[in-house]
Amino acid sequence: MTTAPLLPGQTTDHVSFAQCHISPEARELALEVMAGGWLTAGQRTLQFEEELARWVGARTSVAVSSCTAAIEMALRALDLRPGSAVLTPTLTFCGAVNAIVHAGLRPVLLDVDEQTLTVNASEVESKRRERPAAMVVQHMAGYPAATQELAEAAGLTLDRVVEDAAHGLGASRDGRAVGTLPSTTCFSFYATKNLPIGEGGALTTPDPERTDRLRVMRQHGMSKDAWRRYEPGAGWRYEVTVDGLKANFTDLQAAIGLGQLAHLHTWQARRAELADRYDAQLGDVPGLVLPPRPSDGRHAWHLYPIRVQPAFGPCRDELIAALAERGVDTSVHFIPVHRFPYFRQLLGDLTPSLPVAERVADQLLSLPLHPHLSDDAVDRVCAQLLSLRTHPRR
Ligand SMILES: *Cc1c(COP(=O)(O)O)cnc(C)c1O
Repeated sequence: MTTAPLLPGQTTDHVSFAQCHISPEARELALEVMAGGWLTAGQRTLQFEEELARWVGARTSVAVSSCTAAIEMALRALDLRPGSAVLTPTLTFCGAVNAIVHAGLRPVLLDVDEQTLTVNASEVESKRRERPAAMVVQHMAGYPAATQELAEAAGLTLDRVVEDAAHGLGASRDGRAVGTLPSTTCFSFYATKNLPIGEGGALTTPDPERTDRLRVMRQHGMSKDAWRRYEPGAGWRYEVTVDGLKANFTDLQAAIGLGQLAHLHTWQARRAELADRYDAQLGDVPGLVLPPRPSDGRHAWHLYPIRVQPAFGPCRDELIAALAERGVDTSVHFIPVHRFPYFRQLLGDLTPSLPVAERVADQLLSLPLHPHLSDDAVDRVCAQLLSLRTHPRR
């Protein structure tokens, strides 16, 4: 493992929040692709799609430019009436809600469950009067959301559910891996995600027709094998058969992804180990609520989000600043989207209807978590955090 060069003011004790580690295999495969001269979508992309699907346990996958594009495409492929209601948690990444808007649909924001930080069935039921045509389920931090139960609560069949699994690669629930239900699941390979490529995304769905549609949609709606038209002997003709985006993957991304995939099981196991280590040191600390664990499922541990409550002493924002001074980078997932001016303008002020998100939003603190974090670094993060506690009230 190589270490990143130090930034001005950093010491070697610095603990970064996340790290985009590109494995030696990935670097080598990327060089090979560059030497070969075929950089955009081609054979390597097909190979990556197959191997990703195998890793997930899905029939096949469609690689695209980002998870955000994947969510938009998955929604477009449902052919809903423009302006139809789509349920989505407010405690999510803004891009996931932008994707609903870009698909011509209307986001209906859901509050989150105080314990799981994902959406629960009673909240979904309470929004049925909005007559949702689809729903986006988000596996917050890697905690496997109850996709099937939520679909039932929404009165939707699973094929109308889009799973935002930007955090969910490697998670499973009730013995089913995320990405293998009859929904459409969207993954992210953004620089900090569990399978980092830098940028990129993918979709899985068991529906072969939808898969074909997505393959065409990602490339301007051009007929299936349009990318082959520059191959020797290939024809120049193509058709535009569906509404399309420019959202294709590239062979350079695929090469990196293939080299990274070989390590993913090991990296996932390491993330789980680090989460255990945090749990062991931060459990039973008054004023700290640790991330929930699924009772029947596997957590993907993309993030380790704790909640800082008044009994701890300093508030979340004070902790972020104090930890940064002590060389510990943290982050916040997420600022609920209903707090952003754009969404307030679009959807109105929804603050009163989202009390749990409002409450937890100012308490959430994501601690450093990535597979190359050392045990020692976790211990230092915990020691620094606990040294900042001022009110050990019970
Ligand atoms: C990162 C993220 C996305 C967007 O992924 P991109 O690949 O960067 O488009 C969507 N949803 C959630 C919850 C995310 O964390």
